[in-house]
Amino acid sequence: MKIGLEVHCHLTKLKTKLFCRCSADYYNKEPNTNICPVCMGLPGSLPVLNEEAVKQALAIAIALGSKISEKMIFYRKNYFYPDLPKNFQISQYDKAGGQPLALGGQITLKDSVVRIRRIQLEEDPAKIVYEGSISTSPYALIDYNRSGVALVEIVTEPDLKTPRQARLFLQKLRAILEHLGVCDCSLEGALRCDANISVRGGYRVEVKNIGSFKDVEKALSFEVTRQRMLGAKKGMETRHWDDVRGVTVSLRVKEEEMDYRYFPEADLPPFIITRELIEAVASSLPELPDARRERLIRQYKLPFQSAEILTSHKALADFFEAAVKEYPSPLKMADWLVSDILGYLNRNDLDPSVLKLKPKDFAAIVKAVEEGLINEQTGKRLVLKAAATGEGVGDKLISGVSKIKDESMLAKLVDKVFEENVKAVQDALANEKAVNYLIGLVMRVSGGKADPHLTRRIITSKLKSMGS
Ligand SMILES: [Zn+2]
Repeated sequence: MKIGLEVHCHLTKLKTKLFCRCSADYYNKEPNTNICPVCMGLPGSLPVLNEEAVKQALAIAIALGSKISEKMIFYRKNYFYPDLPKNFQISQYDKAGGQPLALGGQITLKDSVVRIRRIQLEEDPAKIVYEGSISTSPYALIDYNRSGVALVEIVTEPDLKTPRQARLFLQKLRAILEHLGVCDCSLEGALRCDANISVRGGYRVEVKNIGSFKDVEKALSFEVTRQRMLGAKKGMETRHWDDVRGVTVSLRVKEEEMDYRYFPEADLPPFIITRELIEAVASSLPELPDARRERLIRQYKLPFQSAEILTSHKALADFFEAAVKEYPSPLKMADWLVSDILGYLNRNDLDPSVLKLKPKDFAAIVKAVEEGLINEQTGKRLVLKAAATGEGVGDKLISGVSKIKDESMLAKLVDKVFEENVKAVQDALANEKAVNYLIGLVMRVSGGKADPHLTRRIITSKLKSMGS
């Protein structure tokens, strides 16, 4: 099985579109209001390249270890489709004299290396919205606000072997883009992906319109099964991922590249990428996920796995470091973050960047647990509650669930449990390990508030006095 990906990354931190002064922020805007003659392709309008977009694209290329071209040339990719007002997209091309921004590079996964074929800068077409599913929608709506927004396209070699590996690759790429600060990947459609998949050669399918990482795995898994059932077949086909129905549907027998009639965009001169520019961008690169993972392991003595998971989401790693600054308990904090909090986020399909829990409150809860004010179970309950509601965790909340440390009060609870569970008491007298069950019962009747150490002491001494 061979899988290659074409990832389109919006440079969401840019102020303006790639070739005009329209705002690059097309989210939450009235449709077709954020447009001008350039991005609407009106006759006589001329594109002007956004310098900041070049710098951000260069940062991506340098971070992926790609070879930067000495000059890049924009090409017209011609095709007729309603989302493309000019009937061509200004893109780049790596054949027929075309030179994209960068070639080569790689992303290292845990057990493999995925090679990058090329990185190019291009404009986004408009957004087409269907009512429900593409196959059943009675119409298509077009929003040109997105037309002309800057995209960096990252094309891989067909090095990926499974749908799951494709997902891991995208997660790693997302972490790199987040750390570079060029893309808010949590925004809908900020990171889109087309996937080429061939199960046994001869027949290759390009799946378009995959909007999320989960869907990449789903769409590819669907194609694996579909292609296996088809048996031998030849040719290329473009299919559309219908996320509503969870299937791919045939769009067309795929265009060959010559169908796009690539030729140089004469309205834009070749762009010389100087050594000075490359060095300026390279010297301002922030710490990237792999380096950050190694630092977290060194600085906080974290296990590899925890550090790897934390740095796979910039927001999660940022949260961790902010919390440790408030209260230094890195191991427990990392543990809770990668198990309980990430589990909560995954269950609710939330991105770590929208986590409502504040590092300060998280630190206060962990501190309360370590100081013995509340037990671990209660601490985790508070963490999840704050994550869901966003309510701050004040001293009041923590003291409200403080452990019962009053010995006489606990002794009363123990007496009650002993009276009501004669069999369990006999078990505990015969077998020391059965004591834990009694402790559990006391914890339960106290609503999790009983201090476990004190409870154990009271129960053991009571058993001792009964046994003698
Ligand atoms: Zn415009």
